Amino acid sequence: MLTERVDAVVVGAGVAGLAVARAFALAGREVIVLERESTIGTGTSSRNSEVIHAGIYYPPGSLKAKLCVAGRLALYPFLAERGIPHRRCGKLIVATDPGQLAGLEKLHAQARSNGVDDLRMLAAREARALEPQLVCVAALESPSTGIVDSHAFMLGLRGEAEARGAAIAFRSPLLAGHVRNGAIELEVGGQEPVRLLARAVVNSAGLFAQDVARSIEGFPAERIPPTYYCKGNYFSLSGRSPFSRLVYPAPEAAGLGVHLTLDLAGQARFGPDVEWIERIDYDVDPRRAEVFYKAIRGYWPGLPDGALQPAYSGIRPKLQARGEASRDFLLQGPSDHGVAGLVNLFGIESPGLTASLAIGDAVLELLGD
Ligand SMILES: Cc1cc2nc3c(=O)[nH]c(=O)nc-3n(C[C@H](O)[C@H](O)[C@H](O)COP(=O)(O)OP(=O)(O)OC[C@H]3O[C@@H](n4cnc5c(N)ncnc54)[C@H](O)[C@@H]3O)c2cc1C
Repeated sequence: MLTERVDAVVVGAGVAGLAVARAFALAGREVIVLERESTIGTGTSSRNSEVIHAGIYYPPGSLKAKLCVAGRLALYPFLAERGIPHRRCGKLIVATDPGQLAGLEKLHAQARSNGVDDLRMLAAREARALEPQLVCVAALESPSTGIVDSHAFMLGLRGEAEARGAAIAFRSPLLAGHVRNGAIELEVGGQEPVRLLARAVVNSAGLFAQDVARSIEGFPAERIPPTYYCKGNYFSLSGRSPFSRLVYPAPEAAGLGVHLTLDLAGQARFGPDVEWIERIDYDVDPRRAEVFYKAIRGYWPGLPDGALQPAYSGIRPKLQARGEASRDFLLQGPSDHGVAGLVNLFGIESPGLTASLAIGDAVLELLGD
């Protein structure tokens, strides 16, 4: 088999991989994206809430905080300039009992430390003036939160990357890699298996990023963090949405609480909840609706019986096990693991969609470009 030389290879055509490919292409570098499926964005990138997060929830100084804020600031103009459907609809984070007020104040202060300085604390009456069906004791309003058509966004990234010379190889799974002198040799499967010798490789395989890292012979195994799957189930609401903004309860341990998001057609869905799982399985168990009704009625008592339908699910690639403290994104470059030219993206859960443009820039920086 012939070995082809390429400058850069990105493994995975989800939103992170496409943003990285675009960044390489804009920097004038030759780049090939390897995707084992037949199209872009079939993984976590099409199984999420499609929310453009402001950057409220993440510990100050963390990559999640920095890349979310930088990603959002880059994302709105990116979408607006290209006519990609999105809406800066805003969001309310609600306290439903006085015991949650301190938590909202803490979030407000944390958001300010993250550079998110447009939040407003609303009294119950002010929140109700915005959303008459809402029941709460107070709410934190985030005007810069929005929603985006994530597939149209990925098509935008793909189009721009390809226009600058990037190539995407579909049905092309990365099977194995070998660290060579100053380069990485990749074995690519599919109908026409090839071998590539790349100067730079970015592993953005999402839920499978650890498998990809393990398949690279010569990569130090102790640098591969364990991964844990945490499923988030969604239920859709039949009928019209009672709200025009996103509504989130005060956050909980492994997720943001059962919240209401809207799609661009104005349809409402609730979720994601938190379900730790051992193996990948996207089925939504209709019995989970019971917990949803209870949680949602905390802030929307008007939710009618029978209005929720099982919708879809997504899986968070967590770096911490159930019950452990939340971990940050892990963008691992050559100075972290010693393999020249390789970047691993581990634990790219929420807010990875919002942060993607900033992740693209951060990867190039890790490679010293
Ligand atoms: C329930 C849920 C809700 C979320 N909500 C939001 C939100 O509202 N806002 C937000 O900002 N973020 C959100 N996120 C996070 C966001 O969806 C992810 O951070 C983002 O989609 C991750 O993209 P990715 O490219 O890393 O992974 P993926 O989209 O999973 O892409 C990985 C790709 O790699 C490919 N691949 C895997 N192995 C190989 C291989 N060996 N060879 C070739 N290709 C391979 C896969 O086929 C896949 O296409 C949410 C996540 C979840 C789970």
